[in-house]
Amino acid sequence: MTTSPETIAAGFDTLGLAKPLLAALADVGYETPSPIQAACIPVLLAGHDLLGEAQTGTGKTAAFALPLLQKIDLKRAVPQALILTPTRELAIQVAEALQKYAKHLPGFHVLPIYGGQSMVVQLRALSRGTHVIVGTPGRVMDHLERKSLVLNNLSMLVLDEADEMLRMGFIDDVKWILEHTPAERQTALFSATMPDVIRRVAHQHLRDPREIKIRSATSTVVTTSQSYCQTHGGQKLEALTRILEVEDDFDAALIFVRTKTATVELADKLEARGYSVAALNGDLTQGLREQVIERLKAGTIDIVVATDVAARGLDVARVSHVINYDVPYDTEAYVHRIGRTGRAGRTGRAILFLAPREMYMLKLIERATRQKITALTMPTPGEVANRRVAQFTQQIVDIIKTEKLDFFFDVVRRIEGEQDIAAREIAAALAWLATRERPLQMAGASSDHVPREAASAPAAASPAPTFARDTERKPAKASAKSAEDYPAAEARRERPAKEGRSDTPVKQRSFADGATMQRYRIEIGRNQGVLPKEIVGAIANEAGIAGKDIGQINLFDDYSSVELPANLSDDLMDILRRIRVRQFALKTRVMEPGEFVDTRPPRRATPARDGKKPDWKKPDGAKPAWKKREH
Ligand code: AMP
Repeated sequence: MTTSPETIAAGFDTLGLAKPLLAALADVGYETPSPIQAACIPVLLAGHDLLGEAQTGTGKTAAFALPLLQKIDLKRAVPQALILTPTRELAIQVAEALQKYAKHLPGFHVLPIYGGQSMVVQLRALSRGTHVIVGTPGRVMDHLERKSLVLNNLSMLVLDEADEMLRMGFIDDVKWILEHTPAERQTALFSATMPDVIRRVAHQHLRDPREIKIRSATSTVVTTSQSYCQTHGGQKLEALTRILEVEDDFDAALIFVRTKTATVELADKLEARGYSVAALNGDLTQGLREQVIERLKAGTIDIVVATDVAARGLDVARVSHVINYDVPYDTEAYVHRIGRTGRAGRTGRAILFLAPREMYMLKLIERATRQKITALTMPTPGEVANRRVAQFTQQIVDIIKTEKLDFFFDVVRRIEGEQDIAAREIAAALAWLATRERPLQMAGASSDHVPREAASAPAAASPAPTFARDTERKPAKASAKSAEDYPAAEARRERPAKEGRSDTPVKQRSFADGATMQRYRIEIGRNQGVLPKEIVGAIANEAGIAGKDIGQINLFDDYSSVELPANLSDDLMDILRRIRVRQFALKTRVMEPGEFVDTRPPRRATPARDGKKPDWKKPDGAKPAWKKREH
């Protein structure tokens, strides 16, 4: 027997399940049975044995767990069902699933028993009574032999992942257990593959089993470009948002999840990150569903998070991306999902998220879609920052092209003149203002990640989400040497705190030892009360020039001279011009030859190279004879 899409569409309520179980399914947010569930549940409820070919991820646990729970007599706390699994992890997982589906079955008890757990604990738990046992074959055998587990009342036995039990060498144990359980029990055997040995076991121990194999989609050639991203649960949301940001040609996305609850949860999380998004699930009335689709068409939302059923038949041309956030049950569902993009002759893009244990789906989908699925790694914060910078650049280019900016030119010119701030600094401050709500850098991204090409790359139309501002920016720290060698804090106190500048760590620059020095003029002198240590502190902290690269300083009445390495870059000169000490901009510039006249013998003002603090002596005398006045 094979299932068809019509069977898939039927809700759980048509399968013959009791109310408490339907209520539990509503609680966990399952909207519709998976194909294996739709096919298996009625067969098992009818009491038939079953041979099911199904992988993990198809929903096979609920396929056997729900009928099993329906048959349990809660009044009798004796093992009525036994589920054998190859590993302790799976045993625990299945026991947890049973507990979840039995939420409205008061007094229900399930006990996982597996090797490696204390026998004493298990014996005590078994003696308290339980309705269902989930266990690994070896440990179940142990208990049967000790008679601590008695299966006289067993009415149902499930072999989960039979091929795995075979591979792990448990098959003889399994046969032994089958032989030591009541012959009239109902048996279900699930296996991802059906090797001959498993078929033989089935033939020998199952009575007239119904065979259920989920038909895989007939291979379809798809034109959608497909990628997958391997992630762990905890990383998935971060991976999704980063991928959405860096994807080219993004217009709108349809994101598939498995449950109704997940549609709402994910939509909420994306909304909190600044996306225009809505959930689409079977709980919405037809009217509301249509509204969501209309909003997607009109572009008032860019993302819809949907379950398979709710998105069936959805045809919106602007859906450029289909994201399989939760893996589909089978290749057929996958092909349906990705068919929602690449509509109206456009090219589409499909991205599949896979946990390591779901990787087997990759080959199946490649076979079904006859196309290679390329690997995608989670974009780094630097890549995301590059994309944001590219988008920002494009906005600026567009504004320059399309807007009349005369008035703003004047404003900038006025600021330049009145505040003596370079246009580049004004532009940086404006960029900061413009991106305050949507910072260009993700927390943890370094500005080194923004290469020049990124700034000139054309922007993609992906939505620009809001990211929390990085509030952990470190206070400015000069290099160890400059911070320790000079009372920089003192100099910093003199400067009014400027957001976005003085809090940012300054890049330290290195110059070759013995670099040629040049004399620079700064517009602050003795009349302004400046001390050489303040000048050194400010230059070291703000321009990142280490103390060893700052030479002689001479104070005059209204200006001073400082020796610094020759031929400093424009960028550095820009910074040196803007630095303020005691509220005076230094307006640093190279001194012309002959501009400086020093009649005193030269005095080194550089710090001692042995790491000792420099001896900053104030030039003596109120008005030195060597002073050159400027008028
Ligand atoms: P399984 O193949 O039994 O390991 O199930 C894989 C995952 O699918 C589990 O996380 C289940 O909770 C989930 N699942 C199973 N059936 C459904 C369903 N009908 N709707 C939504 N999710 C389901």
